[in-house]
Amino acid sequence: DQKREQRGSVGVFSEALHNEIKRDQRLCERLRCAIDNGEFTVFYQPIMDVNSNTLSSVEALLRWNCDDEHISPAVFIPLAERSGLMPEIGAWVLNRALIDLSHWQFKQGLAISINVSVSQLLDDSFLKVLDNALKSTQISSERLHLEITESVFASNKEVVGVKVNELVARGVKVSIDDFGTGYSSLSRLQSMPCDFIKIDRSFVQNSSEESDTIIRATLLMAKEFGCKTIAEGIETEQQRQHLAQLGTDYLQGFYFAKPMSASDLISWYNENY
Ligand code: C2E
Ligand code: MG
Ligand code: MG
Ligand code: MG
Repeated sequence: DQKREQRGSVGVFSEALHNEIKRDQRLCERLRCAIDNGEFTVFYQPIMDVNSNTLSSVEALLRWNCDDEHISPAVFIPLAERSGLMPEIGAWVLNRALIDLSHWQFKQGLAISINVSVSQLLDDSFLKVLDNALKSTQISSERLHLEITESVFASNKEVVGVKVNELVARGVKVSIDDFGTGYSSLSRLQSMPCDFIKIDRSFVQNSSEESDTIIRATLLMAKEFGCKTIAEGIETEQQRQHLAQLGTDYLQGFYFAKPMSASDLISWYNENY
């Protein structure tokens, strides 16, 4: 009986696994043609300066409309990473976002923050893509911030370090995304030049003594290293006040605005400022 039960659960397990693999394969096929089919758009979410309470930069966030179904980047980005599609998709985002920025007239000197995944960063074409995008749009490099998740810093130390130094040499700013979730040791961070640290929204939204302790320690460390700080996931007035009081430099979250299309961003700005 026990044997049959075991075999039964293995059967269920492998069927579930099989379905998941099938679904991944289907999505992957669709993802392969998504650029050519014009299924991607880039949305932009405001990042606010705490002191002046004005727009400082926007984060570019990729959106995929697949058969009128919206698929979350949390689903398709890891898939693109695994299937080798990320360098091409990442290059598309970089170009799209910098072209959009170069067209905007509503805010002088607005910066743009773009997420870069590990396979994109380490791909041989990355620096060339970056240089071409900056050159063709005539955007000055300090207005480009590249967000790299903390977990990327935790591994691949040497190769990542080389790439990050290439960014610094160009004047591009580097942000460490989802800070506090990546298990990197502080000594590793010390050797990585970075301009911004983004405190993960899990700490912002978890109103506990422990989270506050982590936030305070992060702010202190950022200050010592000369990094500015951004708190992610501000949804309420209470969170806004709390993070401002703790001494964060910039705030981002649904409280201010959700990610929006380029044209909605311009309307939002004109309505509010
Ligand atoms: P992320 O870089 O940490 O981006 C922030 C995510 O938090 C976004 O989710 C954003 O919509 C969401 N968010 C912002 N404010 C709030 C808030 O107040 N409350 C809550 N609950 N969520 C908030 P999104 O757009 O679904 O993106 C998820 C992740 O996918 C991103 O996390 C990033 O890691 C990845 N991603 C998105 N676009 C790209 C891209 O172009 N390239 C790469 N490599 N990764 C991307
Ligand atoms: Mg990000
Ligand atoms: Mg983040
Ligand atoms: Mg995050």
